[in-house]
Amino acid sequence: MQKVISKKIVTDDSRSTEKIGELLGKNLRGNEVINLVSDLGGGKTTFVRGLLRGTGSGDLVSSPTFTLKNVYKTKKYEVWHFDFYRIDDPGMVGHELEEALKDKEQVIVIEWAKDIENILPNKRMTVKFSPTKDDKRELLITFPSNLEYLVSDL
Ligand code: ADP
Ligand code: MG
Repeated sequence: MQKVISKKIVTDDSRSTEKIGELLGKNLRGNEVINLVSDLGGGKTTFVRGLLRGTGSGDLVSSPTFTLKNVYKTKKYEVWHFDFYRIDDPGMVGHELEEALKDKEQVIVIEWAKDIENILPNKRMTVKFSPTKDDKRELLITFPSNLEYLVSDL
């Protein structure tokens, strides 16, 4: 088992959550899985918006809540952004994700992975967003040491 590292960051507003995403996105190489965990309005999609900017992609991020998956292109790889909020059938979710995970090139970012987190690879980053009493967000980022390069600018 690899050592699991965690990092806690508090962001005052959505711009600074985007900035964290951007700094992380800059270090993506392809073939990474990032699991985003929070209640509705926690800041997951906001984070992805920054992350995409960090990759250098000019694509605008919209919430894939109704489309299940949005695909964004960068120079080196694609970012597949899943949102399973509205999916009640875990079988269907699992199938979509398993197909995506077979592809070793892309970056996979998931909102509402819910009860299918077990099919995600151990080599993944998790970002958990918790609102604080004063409406800031605490971001708890956990990852194995072989993904430490992602947070080198945080
Ligand atoms: P999710 O995808 O988790 O449902 P969104 O990113 O769509 O959440 O929405 C987050 C909402 O919370 C936005 O309306 C944003 O303006 C607000 N917000 C307030 N403070 C923060 C913060 N520190 N980080 C991210 N979003 C924040
Ligand atoms: Mg969202």
